[in-house]
Amino acid sequence: MWLPLLLQAVSFFSSPVLSHDDHHFHPRSQQTVVSDPTLSINGIPFSTRAYWMRQANLALGKPCPFAAFGTVIVNHTGSSELGELVCTGANSGSTTGNPTLHGEMSAIANCTRILTDPSGPYKLSPSEASAAFPRLSLYTNAESCPMCASAIRWAGFREYVYGTTIDALVAKGWGQIRIPSVEVLRQSFDLPNPSRLVAGVLTNETDPFFFWQYDPAYPCPKGCARVGGTCQAA
Ligand SMILES: [Zn+2]
Repeated sequence: MWLPLLLQAVSFFSSPVLSHDDHHFHPRSQQTVVSDPTLSINGIPFSTRAYWMRQANLALGKPCPFAAFGTVIVNHTGSSELGELVCTGANSGSTTGNPTLHGEMSAIANCTRILTDPSGPYKLSPSEASAAFPRLSLYTNAESCPMCASAIRWAGFREYVYGTTIDALVAKGWGQIRIPSVEVLRQSFDLPNPSRLVAGVLTNETDPFFFWQYDPAYPCPKGCARVGGTCQAA
């Protein structure tokens, strides 16, 4: 039984599943990292960054979920000065059973669905949707894990903006894969569409969403109170 299966596997992997067009080789294209989030970047002022980071917090849909990782995906290349919300995502691993559904992965899946919805506002073909991601900005209230940072690079987002750092999550007791996003970006130079990383935006507002879970002395996020050691909506 195993031989036909093996042959099938070989022919699958030797068939041109991915065309060369999907994997342009680019010389070391520069990823840009901005570590002072108060700077105006790509002509977008800090107040606009703060607005969208607050929307990433609101994408959670409730005040103090345990895995409080929220994302919004925004178009800053259109005519709107503030930018246009394309989709949101929240960590939904525990509600769906899919452990890969971090906030960023949920948002990318939601955006793909919205961009290609034949009765939605964009009505893009799959190839048009793929081509749209490099014009979009992803805001996440915490630095992406290597899975999500890699997904951000595969999508080719124009900008990747995060709040709370992986280092801060680790310091507060979160298990993390300790590869910073800047390293994932640095190692993704073969991919087209370099992404600009804007780090540490509005951490004074994003940190409280992540600092209470493993620290009983840390106050609950606004609108929540300690009930039996965990923060719950008041
Ligand atoms: Zn992740």
